[in-house]
Amino acid sequence: MTPWDEKQARLRAFLTRGAVGDLTVALLRSLAKMSPCIFCKIIQSESPSDILYRDEQVTAFRDAHPAAPVHILIVSNRHILSVNELEPGDEPLIGRLFSVAKQLAQQEGIRESGYRLIVNTGAHGGQTVPHLHLHLIGGHRMRHPMG
Ligand code: 5GP
Ligand code: ZN
Repeated sequence: MTPWDEKQARLRAFLTRGAVGDLTVALLRSLAKMSPCIFCKIIQSESPSDILYRDEQVTAFRDAHPAAPVHILIVSNRHILSVNELEPGDEPLIGRLFSVAKQLAQQEGIRESGYRLIVNTGAHGGQTVPHLHLHLIGGHRMRHPMG
């Protein structure tokens, strides 16, 4: 064990045992409460957003930094990190994401002109918010090639 490893081990022991350990856990819990996921805050109406649709499974709102004239995010109400965390029981939820996308495309007047649906996953996928969401993008011809 290097002197650095020893220091780390001593610090870990100090922070995790007894009364100090309890205090550390309480501190981490309140920090987690103070900064939950931005999409969870929007779903719970704790953060402002332009909500267009809401049901018991999904919520849809306009993207804060639109990439096209229409840019809507359709998100699961449950905090699911990404496609990687989906389970077989989530299949109805995935269907709902697409049904709501179709409905909103019609509502936004881009059904006939066309649109793009995107689910970024992980670092290489360009995912920046770790809460499952489907981008509905349209209103002009898509310029960016895939990949
Ligand atoms: P991702 O990059 O994870 O696929 O997409 C995240 C999207 O969320 C981005 O397009 C970004 O502009 C949008 N976004 C990030 N923070 C907020 C926010 O606080 N409100 C809204 N409405 N959109 C956000
Ligand atoms: Zn979330």
